[in-house]
Amino acid sequence: MWDAIIIGGGPAGSSTAIKMSQLGRKVLVLEKEKFPRFHVGESLLPYNRTIFDELGVWSKIQSAGFMVKRGAQFWLGDGTKRVRVTFAQGIFTEFPEAFQVERSRFDQILLDHASECGAEVREESTVLTHEVLNDRTRVKYRRADGTEETVEGKFIVDASGLSNMTANAGGQRSYYEEHKKVAIYGHFDNALMPDGDQLGDILIIRRRNSWCWMIPLSATKTSVGLVLDRTDFQAMKLTPEEAFAQAMENTPEMKRRLATATKTMPLHVARDFSYRNATLAAPRIMRVGDSAGFIDPIFSSGVFLAMQSGRDAACVIHEALAKDQPMTSAMKRYEKNVRRRIGIYWEFIENYYTHAFTELFFQPQPGLNLPSSVNAVLAGRTELPWGAWWRLRIFFLLVWLQRRHPIARPFAQSSI
Ligand SMILES: Cc1cc2nc3c(=O)[nH]c(=O)nc-3n(C[C@H](O)[C@H](O)[C@H](O)COP(=O)(O)OP(=O)(O)OC[C@H]3O[C@@H](n4cnc5c(N)ncnc54)[C@H](O)[C@@H]3O)c2cc1C
Repeated sequence: MWDAIIIGGGPAGSSTAIKMSQLGRKVLVLEKEKFPRFHVGESLLPYNRTIFDELGVWSKIQSAGFMVKRGAQFWLGDGTKRVRVTFAQGIFTEFPEAFQVERSRFDQILLDHASECGAEVREESTVLTHEVLNDRTRVKYRRADGTEETVEGKFIVDASGLSNMTANAGGQRSYYEEHKKVAIYGHFDNALMPDGDQLGDILIIRRRNSWCWMIPLSATKTSVGLVLDRTDFQAMKLTPEEAFAQAMENTPEMKRRLATATKTMPLHVARDFSYRNATLAAPRIMRVGDSAGFIDPIFSSGVFLAMQSGRDAACVIHEALAKDQPMTSAMKRYEKNVRRRIGIYWEFIENYYTHAFTELFFQPQPGLNLPSSVNAVLAGRTELPWGAWWRLRIFFLLVWLQRRHPIARPFAQSSI
């Protein structure tokens, strides 16, 4: 009898496994892939550092040689406006740096650390079904050789990412209808990237109705992606490769940077990744990471929120086990807190796609130091001190006003 059976060994599952093992609990991680494996989600946030420290994995991450990220650059598609968010300049941002990581290596470090902390990790083990009984849970999985096994545990932690296994099976997933996107992405060698202080910056280019990213992963390797509305993609009647090539060709800065680059893998496609689940905590089940819901990758918050929720779920399950209860008030508080954190980024994401937000975001108003509050959230500070909180509220009030009585100088939408 395991204390918890964790479905999925991505950042959320590993964080849960590490924390529960550190608390002395017996956990089993079932991961369908053989690591290392490719995964999207490569740009981390500075506040990831707090979780690395807590999970005791910081020295391993620090010595892995990942690209240091000091800032994020946002450009308009036609290049007429650009802004650089430098974490060191935010007065409410306590950590000046993050990392850009190749997820195959990053996820492997976390999963290995979970093993070293005492978790049992079984790779190439695909969970097929789950059951919640009165006093336990039951999980059936299939190994690589096709054989099946059933295991039992007190709790199930669903960390299956966008597969969203247990909520899907329970019909709990609902998509954000107004936010249906398609992402097309892959790795390139020898793209032109800035050097010096800007070496590790993520570049986000906001086109009129879509956006592109460039994430430097090493001196030669860059992750490149395009995110567009699903309806636009369908109307184009192009293959993902054609749509991607067309966007890169039509966006001057992407074209310039990719002029000497070569693609090193077939492009990947992700669809319908913006959704929420009806419940995140139910008797003997906790949902963490993307399985708790995901919105949009624009502000690189996914891995951070995944690890944070994994860590928190571990503490809450530890307490429920001590009380021998299938559902506790702490589990309900967990759900509320995870939704609150997702909500912080949702407010940014919803606004980011509006022109009024763009006008203020690309022309930061230095008065009152409002950009520092934006900087803190984009760095991953989800528990804002009072000074940052009220500045953020004023910032969003200005965005609201901008639609009616412009505060910042209005400018035309990007021609691209
Ligand atoms: C286009 C795009 C770009 C993104 N860019 C960023 C970014 O720059 N920065 C960032 O922080 N986030 C980004 N994200 C989000 C990020 O990828 C996720 O938030 C993060 O990977 C979530 O971690 P997780 O552990 O919840 O899920 P995952 O990392 O997806 O891990 C889930 C694991 O579960 C396993 N699994 C699934 N089903 C089963 C099963 N039935 N049995 C056993 N195992 C199973 C999978 O194999 C996988 O290893 C991006 C997302 C998208 C879609």
